[in-house]
Amino acid sequence: HPTDVSVLGLGAMGSALASALLDAGRSVTVWNRTPGRATDLVGRGADAAHSAQEAVLASPVIIACLLKRSSVEETLDPVAGELRGRTLVNVTTTTPNESRELAAWAAEHGIDYLDGAIMAVPSMIGSRSGQIFYSGSRAAYEALLPMLEVWATSEFHGEDAGRASLVDLAMLSGMYQMFTGFFHGAAMVAAMGMSASEFATRQAPFLAAMTEELGSYAKVIDGGDYTVASQQSLDFSDLTHIVRASEEEGVDPAPIAGVQALISGQIAAGHGAEGFARLYESLANR
Ligand code: NDP
Repeated sequence: HPTDVSVLGLGAMGSALASALLDAGRSVTVWNRTPGRATDLVGRGADAAHSAQEAVLASPVIIACLLKRSSVEETLDPVAGELRGRTLVNVTTTTPNESRELAAWAAEHGIDYLDGAIMAVPSMIGSRSGQIFYSGSRAAYEALLPMLEVWATSEFHGEDAGRASLVDLAMLSGMYQMFTGFFHGAAMVAAMGMSASEFATRQAPFLAAMTEELGSYAKVIDGGDYTVASQQSLDFSDLTHIVRASEEEGVDPAPIAGVQALISGQIAAGHGAEGFARLYESLANR
């Protein structure tokens, strides 16, 4: 093969991945649907392919970093024949089932498939500060590990190709809800003239301290007994006063009202004396 690895998709993330591979001394072929995005990488030694087919044929390992699942299909379906016998590492964000479907498509075409989920922004690629989760072909993961570790800390989550995406999206779910909670609080104090920046200096250390509680909640959830005395009861945690305060200030209570709806549901089902972690039971797929 002319090069070690080909990167398809030179958006913010694909470019960062290709760049880190060049820094690590790998020979890299790059391709992007819209021409002109490879210039910097070519200046640093990458080969530019004129088509996805040419890029696939150039290397035994193909990285796909495209926008979404449909972009992967549009790009890779026409070159499935050329991909046969090669390893495809797809780090495009997909849902677990989309990853499983792509893995099944790859298996049908004799392609070794590894799915990746990136827990990092492009500027973190190449340092060890980011994390990338993988699932799918264990053999591919093990063989490629030295290369994958160039990008970020790597973690293999099993041969079901959907698992990396599932862990990634679960992590992001928690993050986005935390940020939205902050936005809601900031909107509440804005009514009294406090800036978001001023609120952030108070909220950040408070939330950081509260993350200590995750482990104790997790123990209760894993133990399955929500009656444990150490926890604040749901009756006590009723948040209707926060919902009302938000409404009084003309602030949309949607984020906290969503939490209160879960609490009310558990109280209505007779679990008011149990702990706050009981909300988990409203969410879990049983
Ligand atoms: P960009 O929007 O910067 O780039 C998107 C890339 O996908 C471009 O190269 C674009 O090509 C290509 N593309 C889109 N549609 C098609 C298509 N139908 N056929 C071929 N190529 C297509 O996105 P990022 O680089 O930031 O993200 C890429 C992936 O990485 C996404 O799945 C994203 O969720 C994931 N990711 C990104 C993170 C980030 O912080 N940026 C963090 C974690 C994951 P063109 O130039 O021709 O439009």
